[in-house]
Amino acid sequence: MNAFKPHLRGLPSYPYKKVEARIKLDQNESPLDLPPSLKQRALERLAALSWNRYPELHAEDVRVRLAEWLEWPFEGIVMGPGSNLIIQGLAQASNCVLDTAPAFPHYAFSAKIAATPYRAVRLGERFELPLEGLLGAMEGEPGVLFLPVPHAPTGALFAQAEVEALAEQAVRSGWLLVLDEAYHQFSGTDYRPLAKANPNVALLRTFSKAWGLGGIRAGYLLASPEVAAVVQNLVPPFGLPAHTAAILLTVLEQPGYALERAQATALERERVYQALLEHPTWRAYPSHTNFLLVRTPDAAAAFAGLLGRGVLVRRQDHYAGLEGCLRVSVGTPAENDAFLEAAFALAEVGH
Ligand code: PMP
Repeated sequence: MNAFKPHLRGLPSYPYKKVEARIKLDQNESPLDLPPSLKQRALERLAALSWNRYPELHAEDVRVRLAEWLEWPFEGIVMGPGSNLIIQGLAQASNCVLDTAPAFPHYAFSAKIAATPYRAVRLGERFELPLEGLLGAMEGEPGVLFLPVPHAPTGALFAQAEVEALAEQAVRSGWLLVLDEAYHQFSGTDYRPLAKANPNVALLRTFSKAWGLGGIRAGYLLASPEVAAVVQNLVPPFGLPAHTAAILLTVLEQPGYALERAQATALERERVYQALLEHPTWRAYPSHTNFLLVRTPDAAAAFAGLLGRGVLVRRQDHYAGLEGCLRVSVGTPAENDAFLEAAFALAEVGH
């Protein structure tokens, strides 16, 4: 069969495999569903919808509310059913894609499916931002640089001055710097002031993490109206489902819960991190997200050992520089205790 473009034939699929487990700490989700009163209100809103009707063309209703809440121009907001789709749009629109290695894999995957030239610059030994390497790479033909801030999958937070240096270079060389703020509520950072002052900077955000809405699929881009107009054309018309919009409008009536929960998660993250410092063979890295990257002597054995004790985490050892590493989401205190108990029990049997 020759119907497909050659670069898409035989392309490996997104690296995720579903595994059932009692304690699920593998996808950096919120461990909690919506507060019950909000969920009830969302259900009422869903019941009042006419399901036979298309949603808004480009999620105008949600964008109006976001514009007001975030003090961002309506024309500069693009909604997508998950920020993944917006990443794909950006990669499709751009001359080339640049990111760090390691980085959230959907940047590279999106470049690949769009046949957009792709380059990555390795992080430092302790996951420092490779500023010189990135500035150098931006001397070439302008494209889009994806940078998760805080960083995924390492959890590191780069200094603001370094991010600003990238933003200045973006202006000088005509690049678009996309700061992926998927985890920003857990670090307490917010790059809106930089993006507002600099049209070569855009922000990508998701409802999948701090908001506890991974299942409803929603993310958005905050950009200049010019950038947003291009990206909007790459998101399908009527692309944000009516039920997703209804749920977003409900949570945006009472957005405070997301930040409160993120702050509680950050405290739990510190507790788990401190506890892991006592582990005889595992090394946890400092994190500013809702997950911890942990280096073990043998990722396959540690993964299987945890799973055997009912705890599902994510292997990261396929990335260069992350040999032996696992990524563990911060769950409820009870889930985190179960993870720690399993981690220390493994130490006793030689892992
Ligand atoms: N960016 C980063 C850094 C992520 O970790 C994720 C999800 N794991 C996403 C974007 C995609 O989020 P979603 O498509 O659920 O909005």
